[in-house]
Amino acid sequence: MITIEQLKQSSDLIKKIRPSYGPILDFYARVFLAQEKCKQDIRISPVVIEEDLLKIKQKNKLPLIDQSEFLIDLKASERLFDKICDLAYNFAPKLSSNAQLLKNAGQTQSFDLKTLFSAILNNQSSTLHDLAKRLNVPEQELVFFGYASIAPSIRICSEQLEAYLIDMPDLNKGYCPVCGNHPDMAFLDPEGKRHLKCCFCAHEWHVKRMGCVFCENNDKDSQHYFFSDEEKEYRVNLCDNCHNYIKLVDLRQIDRAFYPKLEQITTLHLDMKAREKGYTNAGSLANDVSL
Ligand SMILES: [Zn+2]
Ligand SMILES: [Zn+2]
Repeated sequence: MITIEQLKQSSDLIKKIRPSYGPILDFYARVFLAQEKCKQDIRISPVVIEEDLLKIKQKNKLPLIDQSEFLIDLKASERLFDKICDLAYNFAPKLSSNAQLLKNAGQTQSFDLKTLFSAILNNQSSTLHDLAKRLNVPEQELVFFGYASIAPSIRICSEQLEAYLIDMPDLNKGYCPVCGNHPDMAFLDPEGKRHLKCCFCAHEWHVKRMGCVFCENNDKDSQHYFFSDEEKEYRVNLCDNCHNYIKLVDLRQIDRAFYPKLEQITTLHLDMKAREKGYTNAGSLANDVSL
């Protein structure tokens, strides 16, 4: 677990190596800090899974819960929403005016944050669509502010659920064993083992080193990757079978504390390159990023 101090240091180090990400980091590093601080105030009771249900899930290699079952601390999420709107107003010029609008709308009760949070958890795209239209804010921005505000609760909930996985064999699948969502990033640990990170609950799980994480294709001819000599810590794996890509961070090549979301936001050039080549990523970036 990374401390707030380490997060600050890692962000400063990345800023030095890749100055073009300075303005982006000025905003996002502050958002990540606010989320980490928020985590310390969150109070939620753990999601309980009955033993019989747990056995069925294990047998069928199903995730522990559906994302709609995550519990959130509403008060803490509302406070964080205001905080992130303020940060956007001050440090994210492109989001600035909508951030102010959203904060005001939230405070005048012209829209209920609870509705937004619940629509994100339940993946109700029509509700999100209508809400965005009514507030006259791009849907993707609305989802970004909403998701960023509940992400700490979701993470705490998923950390609590991890207790159920301790004695279970690795599923070795390309979906999150906690909530079933896709990974948005992979990393190699100091021993060279491959892990994936969930795009929704940020749970990290171990998988085999080789093969596509999305379609489980192992055929060498359809698995490729690219990297740049200036950034030896990153690689992008491409699969010609399902046309997905995933970014991989090699922790053996970095001398900073690893905070996945920080690495994610400062490798957007790799996403662009992979997309130019015609690949997509099933673990969408849309939750975490709004540029
Ligand atoms: Zn998950
Ligand atoms: Zn694939």
